[in-house]
Parts: sequence; C-alpha cells; structure tokens
Amino acid sequence: MTSLSDLPLRANLVGKQPYGAPQDPVPVSLNVNENTHPLPEAVVADIAASLAEAVRGVNRYPDRDFLELRAALAGYLGQELPGELRLTAEQVWAANGSNEVLQQVLQAFGGPGRTLLSFTPTYSMYPLLADGTDTGWIPVPRPDDYVLTPDLVTAALREHRPDIVILCGPNNPTGTSLDLGVVQAAYEAFDGILLVDEAYHEFDAARASATTLLPGRPRLLVSRTMSKAFAFAGVRLGYLAADPAVIDALRLVRLPYHLSALTQAAATAAIRHSGEMLATVADIRAQRDRLAAALTELGYLVHPSGANFLLVGGFADPAAAFEALRARGILIRNLGVPGHLRLTAGTETETTILIDAIADLGSVG
Ligand SMILES: *Cc1c(COP(=O)(O)O)cnc(C)c1O
Repeated sequence: MTSLSDLPLRANLVGKQPYGAPQDPVPVSLNVNENTHPLPEAVVADIAASLAEAVRGVNRYPDRDFLELRAALAGYLGQELPGELRLTAEQVWAANGSNEVLQQVLQAFGGPGRTLLSFTPTYSMYPLLADGTDTGWIPVPRPDDYVLTPDLVTAALREHRPDIVILCGPNNPTGTSLDLGVVQAAYEAFDGILLVDEAYHEFDAARASATTLLPGRPRLLVSRTMSKAFAFAGVRLGYLAADPAVIDALRLVRLPYHLSALTQAAATAAIRHSGEMLATVADIRAQRDRLAAALTELGYLVHPSGANFLLVGGFADPAAAFEALRARGILIRNLGVPGHLRLTAGTETETTILIDAIADLGSVG
C-alpha cells in the first residue's frame, strides 16, 4: 500500500495533520462549539419548502453571484449598524463556511512569499489555511490573560509587517472579547489586509461589531458564520462584509458556482427567520454563565468569555479528564493549552450533565 510519504506532496504539507476534531456519536457532543438546540419546527418547514422549490431548478447551475442571498445577509448585518450606516449586497460575500471565505482571502491576498499573522492561542484552522495556500504563518503569543491591547498589536504588526492579519473576536479557544480600539489600532499599524473573524459575535451582543468600522477602511474585512449562533453548521454558510473591491478580488479565486442552489435557498430562508433562529442565544449565554459559576465554585480557573464556550484551567491532567468525560458520553475539546480544556455551553440538560461529570472527576480534575 502507498503511504503519504511516498507521494510527491508539496514540501510545506509534509508531516502536517488534517483538521481533526473527533466526530464520535456521543450523547453530549460539545466539542465544536455548535448551537445544540434544535431548530424551531416552523422554520424547518419553511426552509424545506424553499429547498423543494430550489430542487426544481437544479438542472441549471445556480446564480454564481448569489445576489438574493447577499442582499439578505446585508440586510441582516445592517440591523446591527447604528444610524444611517447600511450595507449593500455588493459589500457582502459568502462561501461554504467561513473557513472557505478565509481560504479565498488567503488565495487572493496571501500565497508564496506572503505572510499571515494572528495572536495565539487562536483558531486552529488559521495555520492550516496558511499551509494550504503556501502563505507563511506568524503566530504571536497573547499575554497571560489573552487580552489584546492596541500597543501589543501595533508593536507586533510593526515588527513583522505581515500581509494579512486575523483578529478573532470573541477568540476561539479562549473566549476573549475583542475591543474595537484594537481593530482600529491594527488597521493603522500596517498596510495589509485586516480580517476580523466574528464567528461568535452574536453571543457577545452587547459589543458593537467591527462592521461599524468598515466605512473608510477598504482593507478591513469582517467574517461571520451561520455555523454557531445560527444553529446552521450542517448547511455550511459563512460570509464576509468588506469594500466592494475586496469582493472583486475574491471573485478571482472562487470556483464557479461554489455555492449550491440548495445552500443558497436554505440560507436565504433561514435569514428570513433570523429572530427565531437566534432565539436560543440568550439561553446559551445563561448556560455558559451557569457553567462558569459552577466551575469557579469547584476551584477551576474560568477565563472571561464572550462566546458560547469557556476555556477552563486548573485540570491536573487535561488528557485524562477529557477521556473520563468521554467515557461518560461527553465530548469536549482538548486544544493542548497546558492545564486547560474548552467546554461548550449546550442546552440546560447537557450543561447540567457536564457540570455533574466535572464535579465527579476526582484526582484528574
Ligand atoms: C467555528 C469557527 C468558524 C466557522 O467555521 P465555518 O466554516 O463557518 O463552519 C470560523 N472561525 C472561528 C474562529 C470558528 O471558531
């Protein structure tokens, strides 16, 4: 049998591991930050009706520029903007998950001889996307409390002069919120592409979005996803707001018809019901805060989080604690941060099961 090392793989992929969060069928699956609440039945019915209609047209290629969906996404993002700020369909782009959006950004603005910088620990896909596009990866460590400041970010960008910077806010896996002052300082500190990854923004609703900073900043990109708060991970729909010229650049690298007619129909229907789709966010935040209080009470170190998960320190043996929870049918995430595990807030029942299991951990906890 041929092994990977026998193949003429690109040098920068040799020895690398694929993205690999386990996909075990366990009763309490909390390891990829999904919204674990079911969709409301009325919304399911309307999406299904839109899909049935779309299926009738699948003998033809879909709308390559998916203008109806982009207008719907622009309308959704526009609801959060103050006063006369508006977004148009020309300022919005989408792909199969925000991972694909990020890949297109790296294809257009990264590549051989160029670099991507971010502040670690952060989303594990950034270095993989850099490898896949032959972009150099520059990880800059966060301070002990994981909080970015204008001074820290400015110094790193002046030192490394990257071509692309990603600021993740709230940051995965630490949960740390991102101040817009940091985004403004980063934009001014270099000449490259600044992408703010707002995958968890809806859980941090008190905070203004980086979309409010778009006017006058043509190198600022803000990405979002329907995979988390929107409870739509299986559909694969991520999106981005930026200057129309950025969207023109992404069109150069996207595959023709990359968003299927079914994806477009499902996502457009879901946005029609955004209020209902997001109705569980308040409960998820409440479960996150209950989990934080319970773990603090048990003596763990809980880092402040604006997302639907917590990075929790104080595990004597995180790998053993991970396995002990898995043996009880609970899947969480060990991201290799020493002494830490990432715990996602689920439904009230799931969160109670998780709290009880951690309380029972004993010496590994
Ligand atoms: C989950 C996540 C995404 C979303 O990925 P999709 O491809 O949209 O499912 C993007 N960024 C971060 C930081 C995430 O945690």
